[in-house]
Amino acid sequence: MTTTLRHEGKTALVTGGSRGIGQAISRRLAREGALVAVHYGYNHEAAERTVKEIEAEGGRAFPVHAELGVPGDADTLWEAFDRALADRGAQPGVDILVNNAGITMPRPIAQVTEAEYDRVFAVNAKAPFFIIQRALDRLRDGGRIVNVSSVATRVAFPAIVAYTMTKAALDYLTLSLAQELGPRGITVNTVAPGYTETEINPTLSIPEIRQRYSQASVFSRLGTPVDIADVVSFVASDDARWVTGQWIDASGGVHLGV
Ligand code: NAP
Repeated sequence: MTTTLRHEGKTALVTGGSRGIGQAISRRLAREGALVAVHYGYNHEAAERTVKEIEAEGGRAFPVHAELGVPGDADTLWEAFDRALADRGAQPGVDILVNNAGITMPRPIAQVTEAEYDRVFAVNAKAPFFIIQRALDRLRDGGRIVNVSSVATRVAFPAIVAYTMTKAALDYLTLSLAQELGPRGITVNTVAPGYTETEINPTLSIPEIRQRYSQASVFSRLGTPVDIADVVSFVASDDARWVTGQWIDASGGVHLGV
């Protein structure tokens, strides 16, 4: 059996598709045939670079700009997406929606300000909620929603408590929507990375922290964005048609035991 071009004929939107885990997801989906909307918020160059890399690999992609975490963000995103598809003469609509964009909030409860709390919820929980709400009419039957959560909702991480709460909200959104969208053949799943080498984790440049995070995995290494993208691509494919409402750990088995 071949797994190549399993997303042929599909259109995908990857939020935060320009850098880190989202970039690897965008590349993987495009390599397997999807037309990919590479969403970004601030770093236009990174989005352009990702689109160029995809095209160099023979794939199809275009950038979509929308700052998330501000009023009207979901509408801005979908209007830009619709416009870009129309400009390309592509069919309107989407088959694969990956809610990946996110920010961290590395503070224990005593140090989190109200503004920081609101910000991390606005980007990580509110934005995906309304992106999905505005996607319901655009998402074709048989489609896929993949929410990128975190292994932080599986174990206690007091140092990032507000961040973890946003991901827990996303986890529950997955469960509810899987029930609601099942009659349309749409699957909704969560993929939860562990310690993954991206720019969201500047402390990974500190050797002691790097070593501690690596050793938390049963494989004694950090995750790479590609490790996560491979799982997302499977969940987004027809091979995963019988999997919905699930929280899928893609952490390399971090914190499995003592
Ligand atoms: P990253 O390297 O920092 O990339 C974040 C992506 O999200 C970028 O494309 C960024 O676009 C976009 N983004 C962030 N804030 C945005 C905003 N307000 N509006 C629009 N776009 C925004 O992060 P990552 O490590 O790949 O993380 C991706 C997802 O995985 C996140 O949901 C994160 O919580 C989750 N996760 C990561 C890890 C890890 O160890 N890396 C572990 C568990 C879960 P711009 O560049 O334009 O800002």
